[in-house]
Amino acid sequence: MEKLYYTNQYQTKFEAKVIEVKELNNKYHIALDKTAFFPGGGGQCCDLGKINEKDVLEVYEENEIVYHVISENIDKGSLIKGEINWNRREDGMHQHLAQHVLSGCFFKLFSANTVSIHLGKEISTVDIIGHLDEDKIKKAEKMANDIVRQNIMVEFIIPSYDELKNLNLRRDLPNTDKEIRVVKIGDLDINACCGVHPKSTLDLRLIKIKKYEKNKNNTRIEFLAGKRAIEDSLKNDKIIKDICNYLSSNEEESLNSIKNLKENLEILLDEKKKNEEELMKYESEYLLSTCHKEKELLIIKKIFQEKSINYIRKLSSKLADKNNIICLFAIKNKEKSNIIFTCSNNIALFNMGELLKENIKYINGKGGGNKILAQGAGESKDLENFLNDVYEKCSALF
Ligand SMILES: [Zn+2]
Repeated sequence: MEKLYYTNQYQTKFEAKVIEVKELNNKYHIALDKTAFFPGGGGQCCDLGKINEKDVLEVYEENEIVYHVISENIDKGSLIKGEINWNRREDGMHQHLAQHVLSGCFFKLFSANTVSIHLGKEISTVDIIGHLDEDKIKKAEKMANDIVRQNIMVEFIIPSYDELKNLNLRRDLPNTDKEIRVVKIGDLDINACCGVHPKSTLDLRLIKIKKYEKNKNNTRIEFLAGKRAIEDSLKNDKIIKDICNYLSSNEEESLNSIKNLKENLEILLDEKKKNEEELMKYESEYLLSTCHKEKELLIIKKIFQEKSINYIRKLSSKLADKNNIICLFAIKNKEKSNIIFTCSNNIALFNMGELLKENIKYINGKGGGNKILAQGAGESKDLENFLNDVYEKCSALF
């Protein structure tokens, strides 16, 4: 069978004759006398598309025969019209060739070979031996894009066994007795590969390394190429433009603007912290002076409006630092309220976690905690009654 994808990788439409039909699980596996459908290989996904306007669901190769899986039968001997999904093929070729180029660049620059690759739907990765730093990654990315710009022809050769031995291939040969296809990208890279490649590196237009990270003894590099890389670049331009508009600065000044914002925020947060401490000092003194005293015990009950939980928790802990104090605090919101119970360490009679657990059901809430601090939330509508009841229970024990 003639593999059109190896003779003209840009051919999308073709006519062919059905030479075999296999029915498997209600699907028809069709073999043709020639096909432009690439069955996948070299890490590259298979082509999809249409045969006689019907969707091709999968394409695979078995014993040198390419099978096209479709839902409806086509008679053996009939002529068909096929068309591959070009966007899928072009994208697959771009990510695939970009991997060759990147692998070649890392090898040329740092003698660092490739251990594994993955060509994904969103992002592709290539794992390079050793730990590479930012400087090396940037050098390889620059070289890869120079290779793109140099419009280097991608040759596809099928050498004899003797010729193969004399070719200086970057990686070991696959263990097979079938003919071995070799892809040659100028003097950058020469490697055994059964994938389909664009005819020139210029097809790629752009190779973008998105990210890199250590992966065991290797460096995993995430990259994009072709339309994917250009779309990513346009998306990033929009993000930078939005950031600059928000900051009212140009691209060069945007980082300084963000640093200034962060510095100002840190100053304000520091001021806020000091103000809160000051406020907390007065608020705790006021609460202590106005609360009701039950024998030796001070029970402070209060419903706050529009205060942060953090602040109220800190305030209750500050009060409970003194001896013989119980704080029954709530922050009232429109529908749900937050409850914070705290007591001094020296009070043996109460366990705040248990007190909250036993009572919070009266406001359909949930919560828990330990002996000296408990926190929960419940409905706001009976909050006053709930807090009064808990207060009565506490004072009754004295
Ligand atoms: Zn290849």
